[in-house]
Amino acid sequence: MAGTAAVTNWAGNITYTAKEVHRPESLDALRRLVAHSASVRALGSGHSFNEIADPGVDGVLLALDALPAGADVDTAARTVRVGGGVRYAELARRVHAHGLALPNMASLPHISVAGSVATGTHGSGVANGPLASSVREVELVTADGSAVTIARDDSRFGGAVTSLGALGVVAALTLDLEPAYQVEQYVFTELPLRGLDFEAVAAAAYSVSLFTDWRDPGFRQVWLKRRTDQPLPGFPWATPAKVALHPVPGMPAEYCTQQSGVPGPWHERLPHFRPEFTPSSGAELQSEYLMPRRHAIDILHAIDGIRDTVAGVLQTCEVRTVAADGQWLSPSHGRDTVAAHFTWVADTAAVLPVVRRLEEALRPFEARPHWGKVFTTPATELRRLYPRLDDFRALVQELDPAGKFTNAFVRDLVTG
Ligand SMILES: Cc1cc2nc3c(=O)[nH]c(=O)nc-3n(C[C@H](O)[C@H](O)[C@H](O)COP(=O)(O)OP(=O)(O)OC[C@H]3O[C@@H](n4cnc5c(N)ncnc54)[C@H](O)[C@@H]3O)c2cc1C
Repeated sequence: MAGTAAVTNWAGNITYTAKEVHRPESLDALRRLVAHSASVRALGSGHSFNEIADPGVDGVLLALDALPAGADVDTAARTVRVGGGVRYAELARRVHAHGLALPNMASLPHISVAGSVATGTHGSGVANGPLASSVREVELVTADGSAVTIARDDSRFGGAVTSLGALGVVAALTLDLEPAYQVEQYVFTELPLRGLDFEAVAAAAYSVSLFTDWRDPGFRQVWLKRRTDQPLPGFPWATPAKVALHPVPGMPAEYCTQQSGVPGPWHERLPHFRPEFTPSSGAELQSEYLMPRRHAIDILHAIDGIRDTVAGVLQTCEVRTVAADGQWLSPSHGRDTVAAHFTWVADTAAVLPVVRRLEEALRPFEARPHWGKVFTTPATELRRLYPRLDDFRALVQELDPAGKFTNAFVRDLVTG
């Protein structure tokens, strides 16, 4: 199926400029489209906030949501092979039905697996790597339409998962699974910044998120996700919430996964938002910066130092942790990470100056921006921040020498 009607990202701040949009319904159709197009980008669920998926005016955008769903669980090997257009909500349902689980999920399950791992998407937890850490094999449709599989034991694997879509279209991914587990979610309120023992708070449960609007120096909410096969945390630093809460003040808590310590399956507690609801109208922009966790307290004080500037355009800020991983372009590559996320108001002109000011304040902490969100970090800075960037460029050169999958975003920031 082909179309030329305007396609936007989920937030509506980006209209893809592609000359054609196709929704292939089979792998063969996908291969043909790739082979016969000069410039191609895949579109996952469109939850990125920048031009990362846009192929440009001469390019073809391939929306993958019509491909066969494909989520084949191998219970003996504890793996799942998942198609390039599948979203986490669907994957989680299928995996759970086999008594198996993923180790972690992002804040919402509506995002596609391939699109998420391509940008280094993560949940939280001091021992949890980004979602890409579960991937053991990537099946790519490369420039001439042929298939290339890159597995964990391949020397190219470090560039193959968090690849910004620059190596080819991911037709399938194979992910590691573990036995299904239960999670209880507890929400606390009013955690002061003064005297904060960040390491203790971040390690108080399997996954911990701190939320603030930066109107005061401290956190309005703390969300703890505790696996029931791990100890019950004491949390002496804040007050248990009396009612269910949404992280954005004024938004309905019914959009959120069950709180108050009621145990439930992993995939109904690890995301903050339920799959059956859209967490918001999309009236938002997002930015996020990933930095070494050992600087967490200094980072939080640096943000607090410009809190009036930040608060003016902020809906909510979420602070999480991510364990170091090995993907060359992963924002948590090689360092245990603290991630400071900002959900802004949907006003690019008002948000961009604040983003620049924030980046200035976070530069001393070697802040790597989330690839799928709004940032202005220049290419020169990114080169400094990613020690394996040249290896990634060499891999692009090897798999796609003509640059069929390289759009302006990738060229300007990574390969150019
Ligand atoms: C409400 C909301 C909540 C979010 N929560 C989190 C969170 O908790 N943690 C976090 O880290 N991020 C979060 N994000 C960001 C989001 O996870 C990333 O932007 C992610 O890339 C979205 O996946 P997608 O499928 O929508 O990607 P898209 O925006 O569709 O694409 C992203 C990139 O992946 C490429 N791509 C997609 N599919 C393929 C494929 N099959 N083959 C090759 N390349 C492909 C695209 O070309 C593009 O370069 C959130 C975003 C929103 C809107």
